Amino acid sequence: MENRILRFFIAAGLVGLMIGSASTALCEDKHKQVPPKDAEPATAHANAKVWQELPFSNTDDFDDAKNGFIATIPDALIYGDNGQIAWSLKEYEFLYADKVPRTVNPSLWRQGVLNMNNGLFKITDGIYQVRGFDVASMMIIETSTGIILIDPMTSVETARAALELYYAKVPGPGGAKRPVMAVIHTHSHIDHWGGVGGVVSQADVDNGVKIIAPDGFLDAAVSENLFAGNAMGRRALYQYGSLLEKGPRGPVDSGLGKAKSNGAVSLIAPTTVITQPVQNLTLDGLDIQFMLAPETEAPAEMLIWFPQFKALCAAEDMNHLNHNLYTLRGAQVRDARKWWKAINQALNLFGDKAEVMFFAHTWPVWGNDKIVNFMKKQRDLYKYVHDQSLQLINQGYTMLEVAEELKLPDSLAQEWFSRDYYGTVNHNAKAVYQKYIGWYDGNPANLNALPPEEAAKRYLEYMGGAHKVIARARAAFHAGDYRWVAQIMNHVVFAEPHNREARQLEADALEQLGYQAESGIWRNHYLTGAYELRNGVPEFPATGSSVGQLRALTLDLYFDYLGILLNAAEADGKVIVINWNITDKGEKYVLSLENSALTYLGPGKESATADVTVKMTRATFDAINTGQLTWQAAIASGAVQVDNPNKLLDLLGLLNAKFDPRFNIVTP
Ligand SMILES: [Zn+2]
Repeated sequence: MENRILRFFIAAGLVGLMIGSASTALCEDKHKQVPPKDAEPATAHANAKVWQELPFSNTDDFDDAKNGFIATIPDALIYGDNGQIAWSLKEYEFLYADKVPRTVNPSLWRQGVLNMNNGLFKITDGIYQVRGFDVASMMIIETSTGIILIDPMTSVETARAALELYYAKVPGPGGAKRPVMAVIHTHSHIDHWGGVGGVVSQADVDNGVKIIAPDGFLDAAVSENLFAGNAMGRRALYQYGSLLEKGPRGPVDSGLGKAKSNGAVSLIAPTTVITQPVQNLTLDGLDIQFMLAPETEAPAEMLIWFPQFKALCAAEDMNHLNHNLYTLRGAQVRDARKWWKAINQALNLFGDKAEVMFFAHTWPVWGNDKIVNFMKKQRDLYKYVHDQSLQLINQGYTMLEVAEELKLPDSLAQEWFSRDYYGTVNHNAKAVYQKYIGWYDGNPANLNALPPEEAAKRYLEYMGGAHKVIARARAAFHAGDYRWVAQIMNHVVFAEPHNREARQLEADALEQLGYQAESGIWRNHYLTGAYELRNGVPEFPATGSSVGQLRALTLDLYFDYLGILLNAAEADGKVIVINWNITDKGEKYVLSLENSALTYLGPGKESATADVTVKMTRATFDAINTGQLTWQAAIASGAVQVDNPNKLLDLLGLLNAKFDPRFNIVTP
């Protein structure tokens, strides 16, 4: 089974395809670090107010999150295949405290406590769920003789542990293990497929185990984090707070769950792709109805209805939270219009029948009345943000103004499952602006603004120097005006990145904002920014792609990616045309370098005047891309047949862009 994380080697350049599953890594010189501080009075006051604003007396979620509990393993501790800790809730033990600390928004704390429920749960007869073993849950659906697994988590190790727990606690007929008949991936995000290799092998799949996924799954799984991978990977460290120590002054929860696990990622190509808007399938006596929901929470996603169980799997299109229309780690913006429509369609198809609804994250909902209420309000949450943002946009409000203005009606805001634990109304309103209007606010003063460093130096000069700004900002800090302090001190830091006082003051402001945030990922972003201002960017190990992911790479995506690696200055004036022939697949492409741009034509294209023709099998191509073979060795052994090797190596030598996985964010 291919489940080792390898790095993706291309030509002379070594490039890690960051996929956002950041490993926890801590600085070695811990004692030298500036520790996090306490909540300021303004923060304590803001957090205390939350108790009055939200319906804490409604504790149904605490019952539901425990409902059907069967068993777990101590601390949900799961070791990785390389001896590392792949998953553990031990470091979140502080959430069992009696009192909510001043440094955490009580609403986020509540979600953090709810997400501590972990282990195997029975959802209804024949349906089980393992929660709290990874950021996402794995579902186990019993068929006549076997089981179907839905969404096998991020890592091989966590998915395997989840299945082992089920086998240990729920014996099959006659005490036998129920065989895995199929794995269903509800959508293309890695936390729902990366662990597939822990529950089935490629050999199992070759012997008939089905891998079922929505239309476009493989392409989306491989491509979504490819082109901007290094930037997304770096920013994902902020989103999940991966570099920070967990605790009342650190990460508490990411809203959806704790964080991504730190294990091996795998991918097996689907054998059954769901292509019809609503498609039926019977598997080992179990009827299944799939409802496609493309371009909602993920580019490829589907909901699943089990009529015999009156159970709806809502994938990640519904959860006990307000989800992201835009992901802060960086991603293409999502379509709120397609999203609400998908929920509405599901409500129409299954709303009158469903007795239980479960999700890829957070705990299930039982009872038809509660399900219908939940579906309506999750639908209306996205519909409201979409429509009311556009209304404000049409009234002339720009992005920041729309976000500042937009508030949910009480009927939505008072439901715990609408709260801003992951996405927020604020940044989702900005996402709607981005979707329809884009980056430009229409004000020509902002059309070609100076970049941050240039502007910062001038601001500082006009304002009479850093010391004057810091003195006034310090007063604003004591008044609790943290948003402004962060904003103004950012100018000082960008003008004078070595100004310690400025860095500390900005860090202090970001920290207070983090302590007040209801969204787990806002908190993580703020606290990571504060950490890096105080301590610099820590060392952390690079993450990689799964071999399965690289095997699924199409030539189109591969050539697109090569273009991003092109050293434009070195390529200046060069013209190189290469015929590519993947012999066993019959795939022919023409790759052309001209004007420092790499373009391609294919499949089924060949140039009669190419400088080079390269022939190889897909296995050789994969071996090179997974670092098992160098181009030079492949050419020498004849695995790559090339009529003009120097010209090929010329081009490959130009693909040498380097991406620093530790690039600066809060400093220039
Ligand atoms: Zn997910």
